[in-house]
Amino acid sequence: MPAFTTEELTGLREQFPVLSRTVRADRPLVYLDSGATSQQPQRVLDAEREYTTHSRSAVHRGAHQLSEEATDAFEHARQVVARFIGAPRVEEVVFTKNATEALNLVAYAFSNAGAAGAMDGADPAVAERFALGPGDRIVVTEAEHHANLVPWQELARRTGAELRWLPVTPEGRVDTTELATIVDESTKVLAFTHVSNVTGAVTDVPALVARAREVGALTVLDAAQSVPHLPVDVESLGVDFLAFTGHKTLGPSGIGVLWGRYELLAAMPPFITGGSMIELVRMEGSTYAAPPARFEAGVPMTSQAVGLGAALELLEELGMERVAAHDRELVQHALDGLAQRPWVTVIGPASTGDGAVAERVGCVSFTVDGVHPHDVGQVLDDSGVAVRTGHHCAWPLHRALRVPATTRASFSVYTTREEVDAFLEALDRVPGIFG
Ligand code: PLP
Repeated sequence: MPAFTTEELTGLREQFPVLSRTVRADRPLVYLDSGATSQQPQRVLDAEREYTTHSRSAVHRGAHQLSEEATDAFEHARQVVARFIGAPRVEEVVFTKNATEALNLVAYAFSNAGAAGAMDGADPAVAERFALGPGDRIVVTEAEHHANLVPWQELARRTGAELRWLPVTPEGRVDTTELATIVDESTKVLAFTHVSNVTGAVTDVPALVARAREVGALTVLDAAQSVPHLPVDVESLGVDFLAFTGHKTLGPSGIGVLWGRYELLAAMPPFITGGSMIELVRMEGSTYAAPPARFEAGVPMTSQAVGLGAALELLEELGMERVAAHDRELVQHALDGLAQRPWVTVIGPASTGDGAVAERVGCVSFTVDGVHPHDVGQVLDDSGVAVRTGHHCAWPLHRALRVPATTRASFSVYTTREEVDAFLEALDRVPGIFG
């Protein structure tokens, strides 16, 4: 699948107003921090403004036209999300604040109380899968962003279950050598990242899903760094839950998505309670609505959902296969450029893969001999190149790779080869300044 032509990329960039601004001493912005937060195209800004200007109202409530329009816009966004990730049912898409909240929502559903909190009519055997206690195991990986680690640590503390993890290889890939022993019969849940936000390494999802199924564990996929770059289809991935976040996917911040198999969502207790998520309320007690309303208490972030829908529609038009091809070209170009600089050490897989199977996606993280990443970031920033430095909310991964911190350049659909070249040129100033 060919990536974008130069003309297409130029046209695409014109849709992102921020890309034409300058920074520091009037330098063109080279935005290589899309892994932290991507930029928004005009159509997303327009969709949010159109909704806010003309239809702003509380969804699923009012007896008036504006509320009807708001509800339609919100539910349309849900349909777009469902289509984008191949969800079999639109009710399986739950809007959350971000990926972090989506992952917490799933972790919260597990407890010593077992089936407590399931929807009336939910299969008790399914609800029992959320029972967790001493003797049970939760498995994560050493490559996790803190968002997909800390909620599971907290769950282990709360329930007395044991937390284990799959280690990473020296290349920063999830190591599956001990998969069969670490994910054993006592494992109730296996939570793992699809793509590392530090190394860009793509996890071997089929291997992990197959093992989880063998032992009857639920699978939770953190897709925050894959949904913006790769075609993601929940059915072919075979996971039970998937989380991603709007602000890395050309959409607004304040909006995220949890997808879960319907029978699982129906068997889970609500995460936050209040208005909108109830079925019947009496002073003595209440019953709760079916998914997704069950998990969307209060008035939701409506303009953000509308914006996310518009962002995903743009990605659909671009075609995720081409988005992935574009990403592969950029990552490989950056890897090739960095390989020519012996004072740079890149972490993560050496290549993007053979094209059929993506091996690393979205970013390159590296260290510069003898120079702290914060200083590297400063030199790049002086040249107008925006990157991220630090541990990228993945402290254990940095520890495992024996680097205290790294500099990360991360890409999006609007990133160009010329920007990667500008980054490499700016990087060449570093040894001179700190040598
Ligand atoms: N998971 C991964 C792999 C991430 O990179 C991030 C954000 O950096 C998150 C989860 C959390 O996303 P959010 O902060 O939008 O909840």
